[in-house]
Amino acid sequence: MKIGFVGLGHMGAPMALNLLKAGHTLSVFDLSEQAMQTLADAGATKAASPKAAVSGAEWVVTMLPAAAHVRSVLTAEDGVLAGIAKGVTIIDSSTIDPASAREFGKLAQAHGNRFVDAPVSGGTGGATAGTLTFMVGGSAELYESVKPVLSGMGKNIVHCGDTGTGQVAKICNNLVLGVTMAGVAEAMALGEALGIDAKVLGGIMNTSTGRCWSSDTYNPFPGVIETAPSTRGYTGGFGTDLMLKDLGLATDAAKSAHLPAFMGAIAQQLYQAMSSQGDGKLDFSAVIKLYRGTKG
Ligand code: NAD
Repeated sequence: MKIGFVGLGHMGAPMALNLLKAGHTLSVFDLSEQAMQTLADAGATKAASPKAAVSGAEWVVTMLPAAAHVRSVLTAEDGVLAGIAKGVTIIDSSTIDPASAREFGKLAQAHGNRFVDAPVSGGTGGATAGTLTFMVGGSAELYESVKPVLSGMGKNIVHCGDTGTGQVAKICNNLVLGVTMAGVAEAMALGEALGIDAKVLGGIMNTSTGRCWSSDTYNPFPGVIETAPSTRGYTGGFGTDLMLKDLGLATDAAKSAHLPAFMGAIAQQLYQAMSSQGDGKLDFSAVIKLYRGTKG
């Protein structure tokens, strides 16, 4: 299938590479020339704009930082809606607020197109391995139709309900993730201060009731998990500023639902402190630096 792909960052690039490996034809656009070149080297065509990337495409995938980027990529003069053929479906895998996803759904519909929110879970490792979980918001029929495209990038493709519910699932999941990472970081730093070896403590946690993705796959203490960003200087994973954005989405959503978000609000302040100290681009597991000080 011919796919127009916009947004080739930490997640988008490996996702697009997997679509190429699955035999699809890709036309790609990103603000970064270097990101586009990596895809071109693997067989994709570089486009000069989102409009050019989606010209002649049967499917469109966007993987952008936040709702403002999605809005501009869709609606700009040289944007997706200006170049897309009628009837083509736009799959947005960015993590954004459910209300914006519903707004983009209506925008696409008014233009004679279809839109699904399909945010992902699984991190850069899952994006590279093609094992992402997709949380799909849209009609049952639309969900069935996007499965062949999404299966080139992920393993679990879950229908969450109508447009926007994929984002509901995603922000609730990331609320848990932001909180568990802060909890594991706090416990690992405490263990270090009290004199236990970090690998021993990590190992115990991972066969005990403290086990979670933040401890067994993405442990924030360097050296506990060889493949985790903490072991490579907190680079190349899920940026702190993106986690901060997601916790903002969760706490805003809680406010609109008239619910408290005690844990989310505290976690949000931790990542805000990191970002304010200039660590916003580091992987979010660098939150442990707030506890370890100069050792981190
Ligand atoms: P990223 O910052 O690495 O990549 C975003 C890419 O979008 C960059 O290459 C940037 O140049 C490009 N971009 C920005 N504005 C653009 C525009 N107007 N036109 C074209 N390209 C533009 O972010 P990421 O880590 O790949 O995350 C993307 C989305 O996926 C975010 O919404 C994030 O919350 C979500 N997400 C990330 C992870 C993760 O582990 N990194 C996991 C799950 C979900």
